[in-house]
Amino acid sequence: MAQTMRGVFFLGPKQLEMREVPIPEPAEGEVVVKVMAATTDGTDLKGYLRGHRLFTPPMPFGHEYSGVIAAVGKNAGRWKEGDAVVAANSYPCNFCYFCRRGKPQLCEHLDKHWNFGAYAEYIRVPAGLAAQNMHIKPAHLSFQEAAVCEPLACAILCIEYAEIQLSDTVAIIGAGSQALMQVQLAKALGAGRVIVFGRSKGRLETALAVGADEVYSTLDIEPVQTIRDLTNGYGADVVIEAAGNPETWQIAPLMARKGGTVVQFSGLPGGTQVNFDATHLHYGEVTMKGVFHLTPRTFEKAITALATGVINAKVMIDGEIPLEQVEEGLLRMQRSEVIKLAVIPALAP
Ligand SMILES: [Zn+2]
Repeated sequence: MAQTMRGVFFLGPKQLEMREVPIPEPAEGEVVVKVMAATTDGTDLKGYLRGHRLFTPPMPFGHEYSGVIAAVGKNAGRWKEGDAVVAANSYPCNFCYFCRRGKPQLCEHLDKHWNFGAYAEYIRVPAGLAAQNMHIKPAHLSFQEAAVCEPLACAILCIEYAEIQLSDTVAIIGAGSQALMQVQLAKALGAGRVIVFGRSKGRLETALAVGADEVYSTLDIEPVQTIRDLTNGYGADVVIEAAGNPETWQIAPLMARKGGTVVQFSGLPGGTQVNFDATHLHYGEVTMKGVFHLTPRTFEKAITALATGVINAKVMIDGEIPLEQVEEGLLRMQRSEVIKLAVIPALAP
């Protein structure tokens, strides 16, 4: 094995750097994974553009990946060299206040339990992560598709909070990769009508291709009035916000029917304030939920959803790039030219 590897580092907003660094050595319980594919993600883009509360520069960058175990530390449980695996980017402690209450995604120790560095030839997987949030990649699933497990696990937690009932009308705000997964999950869970409100016509076409029943560009229509017109004035049973701005957070509950459920999926910049129509929330008994990250259980579910074809990840991956093009790839995402890109460390620059 070579002694050094290439890895993309985040140095601060709009500053990425390719570094030649030592290949990590696994400590006790750890494994080192040779990254076969990593996928670009909206969190990476947001962090790249404006920094992120979870990013502590300089730091290795990228968090969605799958690969092959290249080295195994002592007492690393069931893992062995050569295993094809997919891993999440964090793990809960299982002992803290929130873990004890069944909310591992809110684990008080998550800040120390993130794992970044997927945009590299190799990534070290901490012991707690290897034990709890890493799994064998199903053989027929490509490394690129498997890399989408992490965001899909977040989408699954969100859709579980949405509590979709058979034949429900589900409105999804946004047409990015999260929205495209939500569409597929909502249909899989029996939604009768999934209506997507996005901007980019190309992505709305993709939403139709993955199962949306109707799509509308907010460049052409006003979403609150439109969803009411489409539902005899009532609003959707379930509304999922996956567009990521204060305006969409604000209109999401207005798009829900009385007694409906709203899940605010997208994270907004720290300190963002959003005003809500208290009358509709109160007299309309609208339930509004926040949702964050994933759980070990939703990560497992994500693998199964991909392996069984419930979720088509291929439609979200618009090409392959080498490590050297991560920055350019994120900018292509920002311009809505691509949904996701597969970063393949083995590709020549
Ligand atoms: Zn915990």
